[in-house]
Amino acid sequence: MTEGRLDRRAFVRGGLTALAACGLRGGGSMAHVPDRPGATIAFRNFRLFDGVNTSLHDGKQLFVRQASILAIEAAAVAPPADAAIIDCGGRVLMPGLIDAHYHSMFATLPHERAGSITLDALVLNAAEDMEAAIMRGYTTVRDVAGLSFALKDAIDRGAIAGPRIFPSGLAVSQTSGHGDFREPNELSAYSGDARERANYLSVIADGVDAVRRKVREQLFLGASQIKVMAGGGIISLRDPLDSLQYSSEELRAAVECAADWGTYVTVHAYSPRAMERAINAGVKCIEHGHLAEEATAKLMRDRGVWWSLQPFVPLKTTELQDPRQTRKLQSVLEGTDRAYRLAQRFGIRVAYGTDYTMNPEGAAKQSTRLAALSRWYDAAGGLRMATSENGALLAMSGPRNPYPEGPVGRIERGAYADILVVDAKEIPSLASFLTPETSLRLIMKDGRIFKNSL
Ligand SMILES: [Zn+2]
Repeated sequence: MTEGRLDRRAFVRGGLTALAACGLRGGGSMAHVPDRPGATIAFRNFRLFDGVNTSLHDGKQLFVRQASILAIEAAAVAPPADAAIIDCGGRVLMPGLIDAHYHSMFATLPHERAGSITLDALVLNAAEDMEAAIMRGYTTVRDVAGLSFALKDAIDRGAIAGPRIFPSGLAVSQTSGHGDFREPNELSAYSGDARERANYLSVIADGVDAVRRKVREQLFLGASQIKVMAGGGIISLRDPLDSLQYSSEELRAAVECAADWGTYVTVHAYSPRAMERAINAGVKCIEHGHLAEEATAKLMRDRGVWWSLQPFVPLKTTELQDPRQTRKLQSVLEGTDRAYRLAQRFGIRVAYGTDYTMNPEGAAKQSTRLAALSRWYDAAGGLRMATSENGALLAMSGPRNPYPEGPVGRIERGAYADILVVDAKEIPSLASFLTPETSLRLIMKDGRIFKNSL
């Protein structure tokens, strides 16, 4: 939402890091993706936060083999003879963090480059951020707009370091909607030719048939869920926050196409009317929703709709370019507290996500928004949301889940071995994730160790 200054050297460095990680350029001290050790890894001497229970469990040991958690046993059981032992020194072992609203391709893209960047430069910039994200403790992200399929594949096959990505592909937007980033002189009335600016974030579709086609294209590309813009946004300049985007028929068409592939639609919406229209059309998740009213919250509860809410609170670094953006942000900020309280009061399932977009400084401190949850949740509640609850939301992709071998966000037998060891003897505070360099002593994803300072 906010933006940082372009650091050209950092940008070039990021590109080279990614190339080195891909094996296209040798040498140097570039980061790399570690190999998965063949033998069993036995974690011992830890206090377990399993992502589900809000209290710690002691007296356990945990075995990892390949990408999975093989078993959780009593500490007295002898580990397998071939096991490599990791003594956690009595610290907390927990699941890797999940960001349910991330833009892998755009989080750290300097705002000035957004209109002109080519796809190859965009991917290299994103690769650098992905590597940084895993070092911040994020082992999974749900990408809710962005052409991140190739990035995801490169991460999955170990060519570059980064979190698992649940991709939405391009967000589908109506003309004049939150995903229409054209300038006035690019409209057909002026250019004589309806051009679509390549933005790699969203795609424009009007009418039921066009919506079906664009949704199906994202599914064709491998989307695990579909993102539709159903109301006004902040960074987009020309769509009022209160605007309703897409008719009920168009929204239903998107929902049907997603359901036909066994998955779901999540919508960008802030206003109560946009949220209600989308929920009535069958969407399963609302992104944002900061302006919800009591009736909206009741509807969400009754329909079992997820609330992917972000703790947008005033930040010192908030510097939007345009006063139109600032005004919109202000009204969203005013709704944040009420939205969390409504969600708690009505028992709505809430996901944790950050939504950094073209904000290199913000994304570099991704857990600022995790720490901000402490206004409404205690540490265990916030961490539970950022792990097992987010994992439950991701599982709604059903047969389109790109990681079907086990759950993410929980420490249990058969789950993916995405593990943090935190330098804490009690449930870590949400603020402790602001300094992952010191607070995270071990980071494992997919059974691979990315950091170990134990
Ligand atoms: Zn977003």
